Amino acid sequence: MFVQKLVLRQRTEILNALCSSGSAEHLEQVLDILLSQGELTWEDYQNIQVSGRALHCNARKLLDLVYTKGEDTCGLFFAAFKRVLPDAKGVGTSSSGCSSTLEEKEEHQSTCTETLLTQRPSLVEKLRGCIDGALEDLVTSGHFTSADCCEVQLPIHTPCQQARRLLDHVRSKGESAAKVVLQFIQHKQEPVSPLNQEKLTPPKEVLTYQKKLSSSISAQSCFLSTYGGTSHMSLDDIYTDGQLELAHNCVDVHGPLGLEDIVGAVGTVNKEADTVLVSGEAGGGKSTLLQRLHLLWARGAALQDFLLLFPFSCRRLNSEQRELSLQELLFQHCCWPDRQQEEIFQFILDHPHLILFTFDGLDELKQSFSDEHRLCCPTQRAPVHILLFNLIQGSLMKGVRKVVTSRPEAAGPLFKRHLCKEVLLKGFSPSGIDCFVRKHHSDAHVAAKVLESLRTNTALLGLCHSPVLCWIVSQCHKELLGCGEGSLQTITDVYLMILQNFFQHKSSLKNTAGLCWLEQHLQTVLHLGKLAFDGIGATCYIFSGTDLETCGVTEKDICMGFLMQSKDISTHAEGYEFLHLTMQCFFAALYIVLSDNTDRSTIPKLFETRKMKEAGQSSRCFIACLPSTDQPQRPSGGETTAAETPNQQITATFVSGLLSQRHRSLWLHCCPSAVMEKRVRQVVKCLSKGMQKHFKSIPQPVEGEKKSMHAMPGFVWLIKCIYEMQEDRVAKEAMSKLEVDHLKLTYCNIGPVECTALAYVLQHLRNPVGLQLDNNSVGDVGVEQLLPCMHICNSL
Ligand code: ADP
Repeated sequence: MFVQKLVLRQRTEILNALCSSGSAEHLEQVLDILLSQGELTWEDYQNIQVSGRALHCNARKLLDLVYTKGEDTCGLFFAAFKRVLPDAKGVGTSSSGCSSTLEEKEEHQSTCTETLLTQRPSLVEKLRGCIDGALEDLVTSGHFTSADCCEVQLPIHTPCQQARRLLDHVRSKGESAAKVVLQFIQHKQEPVSPLNQEKLTPPKEVLTYQKKLSSSISAQSCFLSTYGGTSHMSLDDIYTDGQLELAHNCVDVHGPLGLEDIVGAVGTVNKEADTVLVSGEAGGGKSTLLQRLHLLWARGAALQDFLLLFPFSCRRLNSEQRELSLQELLFQHCCWPDRQQEEIFQFILDHPHLILFTFDGLDELKQSFSDEHRLCCPTQRAPVHILLFNLIQGSLMKGVRKVVTSRPEAAGPLFKRHLCKEVLLKGFSPSGIDCFVRKHHSDAHVAAKVLESLRTNTALLGLCHSPVLCWIVSQCHKELLGCGEGSLQTITDVYLMILQNFFQHKSSLKNTAGLCWLEQHLQTVLHLGKLAFDGIGATCYIFSGTDLETCGVTEKDICMGFLMQSKDISTHAEGYEFLHLTMQCFFAALYIVLSDNTDRSTIPKLFETRKMKEAGQSSRCFIACLPSTDQPQRPSGGETTAAETPNQQITATFVSGLLSQRHRSLWLHCCPSAVMEKRVRQVVKCLSKGMQKHFKSIPQPVEGEKKSMHAMPGFVWLIKCIYEMQEDRVAKEAMSKLEVDHLKLTYCNIGPVECTALAYVLQHLRNPVGLQLDNNSVGDVGVEQLLPCMHICNSL
């Protein structure tokens, strides 16, 4: 009973200490603490804190209440009192030996309303200087009316009292209002940019360098690169937001991410790491997204926490043969400082948190990621891929933020260990397609017609989720609007359309001999096809004049627009690359289909990706098919190349499409029909064999359970190849041997395009299945695409 008695005995002193200043602040602070500790209920609080009643009366009410609550509450009251008034004379428990301590409540409570209560003392402190901002957010979010604001901001209240009134009001408005306030406070607390935080004024030479770097980046990124060969389209005019999502579930993040969230802390899973991976399919917009980030940084419109940004393209790093030091890599590949190189480099080393590196297309690097060769010394020379891998791991320049883009297959577990997070780029949303087409056509009438025609062809609309296909479709709008409804179905159709479009627009040749367009340009197709085919075999995407010559590529072929001049800043050598990697795969496929120079094992090897992976070899199908003198140089040491399997799969998909019955009339005069027939048979056999392999992996069901198949991404790829062929008999045959009750296709990277293919093939199943598609990006458009196979799905 000792502390309780003390409340009685020291009543006068306590009241004096709490009220003598005439301000209610001390009393209210004590109340805040007791509320947050759960010693006072909300009702208790309202009974004590009656507005309009004299301060002394309120204080007496508090003392009465804590007394009646007993020893523990009295102990905590003294602890709260001491925290608010540590120097108050004649009040206290220290001599009594009673030592109640205030518990620090966990910051993360189960609800926001609870957090408002348990964190009340600190929230009052944080809110008192920014009541206006918090009220503004509450009004904007529809939780507060202007009358609520007036009540909170009564001029008789001190800022702390206003903060308390605000919290009390929010409490009555419920959980979502509480969330708005907490978010507002969190936002206010977010660390200020490191630049401001340190009050750092970078040396003059660094600022001069930054100016040069940003103007060079701005110049490089203001036009969309794939239009180089066709027309100049400014990035500002055409850039359309893609869909960004975290690869893993994160409780704090709901809804899509913004561009700056890629680099920001949101969704971080490994705080030790500094590398963010942006993964997405070929043509999904990864390079364009980085280009956008670069441009915004260079203009001072985003990422301003970073003083210097160094953009790298793995494609270009491939052609760097020399061993370089980190300094040489930065300055020679990005921007050369006109003077004081050493001082600038030292500044970079000393301020890693002010530096951002971007590496576009890790999947295009000749070497797969490895952490075997450690390098910690920034002045030591090494091959560029070793520098890159050590930067990613953080053994070199720890603390520098890195953004790496890659296709999903190429980012293995070893690499992922060094990531702070992974962000998925999932192409355009339905409204993104709409927006892109409208931006692409300044004539609103044309845009409306293109969109209308897409709406009538849902398969094509599905394809347009991929930005590169959306671009082609939009670019070829005349062909699109001119061709019959529904005639464009597959990815191959779309690429054939752009092939025809380019030939017809760029060619000055008059078709006097009545040749079909392909026949007329067959030589160009074969020259570019060989270049593409050899390049994929050698993981080569930038071609020198000699490469072009070897494949017979002429000036006229270049003029057709499929190649664009490569901006190789490192070597300053003139180079060419295909408009897009998928275009290179398409030309490689054309070569496989049309050339009489390829080996008969080319097609079987093309479809054998899994086996080769299992054997741990590099996929050498392209090279193996060439005469040995023609074989391009492989990366030394026979390393496996991360890029090969996906490129091979894209090429195989195109080969299937090109050999479809629907396109055979095109080849009529370009290739002997017996050869064509043989190639078709080879593809059909490969597809059927590939499917069999998947079916064989189905385990026998446990008695009483359903027979279930868990498909791998390779299965979806085969389905896509079958879809490209558009031959019912092939689909029917493939499905005739699949006998399962349940088909699990989780984590298979299935989007609308894959849904179209799935529906086409699965509708040929003999017996109904349950289809499980969790953890993909099916979306509304995808579900619509699945309609044709709904009759065979007993559950979805
Ligand atoms: P990836 O690097 O994933 O292979 P790209 O960024 O090269 O894909 O995109 C291929 C093409 O698609 C671009 O050249 C451009 O025409 C179009 N594209 C991609 N993303 C966008 C975007 N966000 N806005 C407008 N067009 C885009």
